[in-house]
Amino acid sequence: IANAPAAVQEVVLAQPRGFCAGVDRAIEIVERALTLYGAPIHVRHEIVHNTYVVNDLKAKGAIFIEDLAEVPPGATLIFSAHGVSKAVQQEAEARGFRIFDATCPLVTKVHVEVAKLAKEGYEFIMIGHKGHPEVEGTMGQLHEGIYLVEDAADVAHVPVKRPDRLAVVTQTTLSVDDAAGILSAVKARFPLVREPKQQDICYATQNRQDAVKLLSGEADVVIVVGSPTSSNSNRLREVAERRGTPAYMVDSAAELKPEWFTGLGHAARVGLTAGASAPELLVQQVIERLKALGALSVRTMPGAEESTEFPLPKGLGDRSMAAH
Ligand code: SF4
Repeated sequence: IANAPAAVQEVVLAQPRGFCAGVDRAIEIVERALTLYGAPIHVRHEIVHNTYVVNDLKAKGAIFIEDLAEVPPGATLIFSAHGVSKAVQQEAEARGFRIFDATCPLVTKVHVEVAKLAKEGYEFIMIGHKGHPEVEGTMGQLHEGIYLVEDAADVAHVPVKRPDRLAVVTQTTLSVDDAAGILSAVKARFPLVREPKQQDICYATQNRQDAVKLLSGEADVVIVVGSPTSSNSNRLREVAERRGTPAYMVDSAAELKPEWFTGLGHAARVGLTAGASAPELLVQQVIERLKALGALSVRTMPGAEESTEFPLPKGLGDRSMAAH
């Protein structure tokens, strides 16, 4: 019937999607600290940018704070996966907390690179989003000589003193394509700029963006599970949209709107993915809602298999001990 309402026919899942190794590790650090030291455990900033994860840990006894003055003396404090500035690290140490650092090792790698090159007299351009905690943490590795650029236009204004001693670093969760464009602008103005040996955008961001590019070719509409604060989830939605596929981000299945699927024809295919901080449970709940909207089948796209796993900080046991 020509005017029949559209029905969701098939759900196509991106591969990979959802949790990355850094998020897995960060959540495990909070859970283990709760088990070993008991509630409350204080966490500076949302451990990862996901509403469900944060609420779940709150229910288990985690307290999320922004200002270290809110943490009582002697408490256990965890730094979020996004990393912290030197000033925050020093203040936490001075206040005498028992500290566990859940900074993703791939963010720490950028911090280490900044510290090393700064000793050699380098200044830095950081490509990233202003106000994001990872950017504050990385910029805050130095007192001066690190300049943020958010887009190509910003490059014209950075007050670099020695263009022959300049390095570029990036936030780990940027759009790979946007970052490449901004880097070209940096190189055009500063041809001698030093680039990271291995790009700072992490494997999980790269893989999820590659997967959503494939997914948008297969789907009439793309749904990204992720919280509004999640940088990499926002980028996934943008990547799909730039490929010409309407794309929406939902924090939970309850946010899904049936009208997104009307007007797509009678056999609409819905692409589904999740940001690196979004649990698979939420993806499964979205699938259930899509089934209620008529989806008859679910299939997973072929894509990269990930096996990255990061060790836990000292003092929280190791994974082999707690396998079952
Ligand atoms: Fe680490 Fe990348 Fe995951 Fe961020 S998205 S926690 S940098 S692996």
